[in-house]
Amino acid sequence: MYSLNFDVIIIGGGMTGLAMAGQLGGLGLKIAIIEKKIPEPYSSTQDFDLRVSALSPQSAKMLENIGAWECLKSMRFCPYRQMRVWEMRGFGDVTFEAAKIGEPYLGYIVENRIVQLALLESIEKIKEVNILSPATCLTFDRNGSGVSVTLEDQRVLKCRLLIGADGADSEVRDSFGMSIRSDAYNQSCLVASVITDYPQQEITWQRFTSSGPQAFLPLSGHHASLVWYDQREIIDSLIKLDLPELEKKFQEKFPVELGPVKVHSIGSFDLFKQHAKKYVQNRLALIGDAAHTINPLAGQGVNLGFQDTQCLSQTISKALEQGTDWSSYRVLMEYQRHRRWVNELMLRAMDGFYYGFSNDIAPLKWARNSILAGAKNPIINQSVMRYAMGI
Ligand SMILES: Cc1cc2nc3c(=O)[nH]c(=O)nc-3n(C[C@H](O)[C@H](O)[C@H](O)COP(=O)(O)OP(=O)(O)OC[C@H]3O[C@@H](n4cnc5c(N)ncnc54)[C@H](O)[C@@H]3O)c2cc1C
Repeated sequence: MYSLNFDVIIIGGGMTGLAMAGQLGGLGLKIAIIEKKIPEPYSSTQDFDLRVSALSPQSAKMLENIGAWECLKSMRFCPYRQMRVWEMRGFGDVTFEAAKIGEPYLGYIVENRIVQLALLESIEKIKEVNILSPATCLTFDRNGSGVSVTLEDQRVLKCRLLIGADGADSEVRDSFGMSIRSDAYNQSCLVASVITDYPQQEITWQRFTSSGPQAFLPLSGHHASLVWYDQREIIDSLIKLDLPELEKKFQEKFPVELGPVKVHSIGSFDLFKQHAKKYVQNRLALIGDAAHTINPLAGQGVNLGFQDTQCLSQTISKALEQGTDWSSYRVLMEYQRHRRWVNELMLRAMDGFYYGFSNDIAPLKWARNSILAGAKNPIINQSVMRYAMGI
């Protein structure tokens, strides 16, 4: 049984909300997570999810520290050792190899649902963490010392700190009038879960074309996830094709490196970016996509969200040690100061990729090819890898 008074209430039990709970539970704080719908339990015969993420070794380490990596390894995931990035019509072509910096892997491709299930399994062992699901919030009320959350079933929960981990359409953010800067890209992406003719691969690749990138993310066995970025109208027409026609399109338009594929399921996502102008208020903090949504072309979204969770839990831990009011605006501002500019930098870098690579303007074409070619230089190549891996 859970009590109605908590130290922290986290709205949203997605990947970042659950990771946050795992870390704060370790500090001995009493936590409630409110989630609309938790994923179905894992079975090895389940279809592969459309939503997958490339997790960096730094994210894997955080998951290991809270006991979720062991759970994840008992389900399914795919480590990759190499990443190749190249330009379709040009000389830019670079491969990053983990072995060059003495690491076994560059990262891991995992279905989002599997990450959630692994986190759920690990935090179920922490007695301070209570998962309320299915549950939906109705209202939030804040006073000087905390926040009350009224659920749809009229239960009222109280806490000293409310954390919004409820994704890009965050109700927490909107309810407290936290404004965002938001912009849509003139691109969508088609995501396809496929079965490849080729056996399991250890490389992830992305080819830039003038209409958008095309990416291959390996999954376990013969499975893989393909991402096709293009103008919204093109993606809208692709999604209407029947699967054999779409398979033909992949053969025509994707690089030969893909080989023949059988498409299993498809979905499409509109691309947009948004960034909350502030991440915190008194007794309130935003993390993950509730705070920032970035173009997925470099697969950084949830990795940034996990870094938010690490920073916020370290900030709270330090305040607890010092005996200060750990949910006060002053303490929470420290989290915002550390994280907002780093996330802003990544948002801008993704803009640079998006605008720099999705066109045929000659000087830009030359510049991007030169950047990719320059990344072959061993010093640059290894520095980029270390940065992307968080080491
Ligand atoms: C096509 C695509 C590819 C991507 N690839 C990558 C990648 O390779 N690597 C990477 O790092 N990132 C990637 N991302 C980004 C990544 O998916 C997101 O950053 C990540 O899912 C955000 O996690 P989150 O927990 O913050 O939010 P979400 O995943 O949106 O989770 C929010 C949770 O809150 C719950 N919720 C919402 N409102 C309420 C409410 N009122 N009450 C209760 N519960 C609520 C929802 O049910 C959900 O479970 C990709 C995104 C897209 C679109």
